[in-house]
Amino acid sequence: MNNKKTASHYYKGKFEKQLQKYPGLQSKMTPIPDTGEKTYQGSDKLIRKKALVTGGDSGIGRAAAIAYAKEGADLAINYHPDEEQDAQEVKAFIEKEGRLCVLLPGDLREEGFAKKMVTRAAEALGGLDVLVLNAGIQQYEFDIQNLTSEQLHDTFEVNVFSVVYAIQEALNYLSEGGSIILTSSIQGVKPSAHLVDYAMTKSCEISLTKSLAAQLGGKGIRINAVAPGPIWTALQICGGQPQDSIPEFGQNQPLKRAGQPAELASVYVLLASDEASYITGQVYGVTGGAPIN
Ligand code: NAD
Ligand code: MG
Repeated sequence: MNNKKTASHYYKGKFEKQLQKYPGLQSKMTPIPDTGEKTYQGSDKLIRKKALVTGGDSGIGRAAAIAYAKEGADLAINYHPDEEQDAQEVKAFIEKEGRLCVLLPGDLREEGFAKKMVTRAAEALGGLDVLVLNAGIQQYEFDIQNLTSEQLHDTFEVNVFSVVYAIQEALNYLSEGGSIILTSSIQGVKPSAHLVDYAMTKSCEISLTKSLAAQLGGKGIRINAVAPGPIWTALQICGGQPQDSIPEFGQNQPLKRAGQPAELASVYVLLASDEASYITGQVYGVTGGAPIN
């Protein structure tokens, strides 16, 4: 049976206000984000690939992990230890698809964890072909004078430093044809007033994508970034946006709605696959229409 949704089937309405404590559970959201379990259809694009996805328990990372499994890849997923419930759902789904799913809980703010995570993933999977560095923190703050050093450190630690450490370690395992994918944001090019620290980190990821594409090209390792617009995920209802912005979230995009994580999956699949063999150093906007340059 063809379960694939057409664009008109994705949720178009307003959202109820709902607040969870960071990092939150998508299983407790209304509506639950569509991460592709029913809507994504695979076609053997990633057979025998071994992929690590950070933030693979929920949202965009989960949509990538689910799609990768449906395309024939084995997975390791990292997530914050408080997200065990969402992670167990992903593991059960991926195993039902007949693929491996290694769970690697751990806080990316902890010194040394990012490298350990990569080593464990490569050991458990028997190698590494694809590294999706997607975990992220977003906490809004309208006044830079109120931005705490704790928040500044946390945001840079997860969104930038852990990304660098993970790549350093992954280069011990990735070989020619390997692919690194970062989840940046439209905020990396069009920063909002209330997301000062977050937007800076998303610009860093775009810069890193470009410099490393030049550095790693000779090894045949590709690196690209995805720049999503407003996507309905736990990040937004755990302090990512003020509650007053939740009902209208995404409605001011040209497509007049928020995106669902499943709508990004095919871009993550393309960038991981050998079909993207000549694509590196690029930033892919999936924004509902807002230009990224
Ligand atoms: P999400 O909350 O579903 O996923 C974010 C994940 O980051 C969490 O599931 C968690 O596992 C991980 N994470 C956060 N802090 C962590 C920590 N300290 N240690 C380990 N893991 C941690 O939300 P999402 O929107 O799918 O976020 C995925 C990525 O997409 C993020 O990098 C985010 O910046 C980016 N993004 C999201 C949007 C959007 O509108 N949702 C837009 C642009 C970019
Ligand atoms: Mg999560």
